[in-house]
Amino acid sequence: EGEMTTAYRCGPLIDLCTGPHIPNTGLVKAFALTKNSAAYWKGDAKNDSVQRVYGVSYPDKKSLKEHMRLMKEAAENDHRKVGKEQKLFFFHQMSPGSCFFLPHGARIYNKLISFIRGCYRERGFQEVVTPNIYNCDLWKTSGHYQNYREDMFLFETVDKDEYGMKPMNCPGHCLMFKHESRSYKDLPMRFADFGVLHRNEASGSLTGLTRVRRFQQDDAHIFCAKDQIFSEVKGALEFMKYVYDAMGFTFHLKLSTRPDKYVGDVKVWDEAEKELGKCLESFCTENKMKWELNPGDGAFYGPKIDIQLEDALKRRHQCATVQLDFQLPIRFGLKFRRTNELMEEPVIVHRAILGSVERMFAILCEQWGGKWPLWLSPRQVCVVPVAEAYNEYANKVAKQLHNAGYYVDVDESNNQFKKKVRNAAIAKYNYILILGEKEKTGKTVNIRTRDGAVHGEKSIPDFFDMLAEDVAA
Ligand SMILES: [Zn+2]
Repeated sequence: EGEMTTAYRCGPLIDLCTGPHIPNTGLVKAFALTKNSAAYWKGDAKNDSVQRVYGVSYPDKKSLKEHMRLMKEAAENDHRKVGKEQKLFFFHQMSPGSCFFLPHGARIYNKLISFIRGCYRERGFQEVVTPNIYNCDLWKTSGHYQNYREDMFLFETVDKDEYGMKPMNCPGHCLMFKHESRSYKDLPMRFADFGVLHRNEASGSLTGLTRVRRFQQDDAHIFCAKDQIFSEVKGALEFMKYVYDAMGFTFHLKLSTRPDKYVGDVKVWDEAEKELGKCLESFCTENKMKWELNPGDGAFYGPKIDIQLEDALKRRHQCATVQLDFQLPIRFGLKFRRTNELMEEPVIVHRAILGSVERMFAILCEQWGGKWPLWLSPRQVCVVPVAEAYNEYANKVAKQLHNAGYYVDVDESNNQFKKKVRNAAIAKYNYILILGEKEKTGKTVNIRTRDGAVHGEKSIPDFFDMLAEDVAA
């Protein structure tokens, strides 16, 4: 049909494929098969079935072994498995793709949000709360109705108006910007929103927390003037680095530039790309990092910085995003006053760091195998009285910890104390306090951690200092 197609050849095998292929199989030094599956030829059940074999290859055995080890660890750490073991969340067929976070899961979920929220104040973001459902006239203005309708939950009200649940926050924020007349003195305006989003993913594609229908983002839209792009984007990158450092991630940066199909003025694109390039250069120099150019891979409405984080298992995920948008301000007719005579269009920077909180939950769960660091842990301290006689003292210690804001439980079961300690370690409590006669008399606690390390006897104030230090780290 006049389109190009590519074929690759390796010995007798000819493959219709976008490539690339290696020139010969002799170059494969180490490989392992990971999966095989049957599929019908051309996807038709009347045809013969064909076998599809999946594998990975590495230049040497050592790297292959390391890869297989990390994959095994990832499988053992599967967030669906950990979520069930630790009673964090579940899914129900009554609402596919929308997660039920149980109390301990909600502790983690909310902590992720409050961590970001805590950063907003000093970074000049203002949190807003916006509607979940909008008249489809809004989705027509934003273009979602024309281009994204399949992925939206749409419905009709009794008076026959068509509404849609929001898949993104941006159009609502545009209404907020437009709500009052704006001058350059108001800019940049940074609206942050943890609003609930819905996307109608096909039920077959839903997998745990990584592909869901209902989710929240640490979303923000920065409305700024063109000459503020540099500082705003730089600020977004620095913010991201701060958060990813805290989570133990490294990351990779790419600048995606004007695609073949684009809207807007080439000059504006060129300038914005130049600004983003300068920004990346400055950020990367300061942090001794490298960035790459990804020509033609920008969104049709503006260039963007693609960020891939790398977790402790060496897996890469796309979570954070920094995108410039010239198009939405035009569609919504957004303006700000530059001088008495001159009105100008703002640029919107769409940015998120965690991306979807649900997905970040899953990534962190797998990276740590459910061994949550103290600041994020839903089970921080387990108090273990060695016999019933010490239950009262145990509850007194627990109450102090509870009042100080920690998640603490007392194991008052009839189990032997060794079993209690083992159970607490399996439940992944960060700290286990063993209390007996000596501790009760001395008003102290005997400390262990879930990895089996014995930290010995400390006074209660000293234990509080230990916790405070751990939270800060
Ligand atoms: Zn957006």
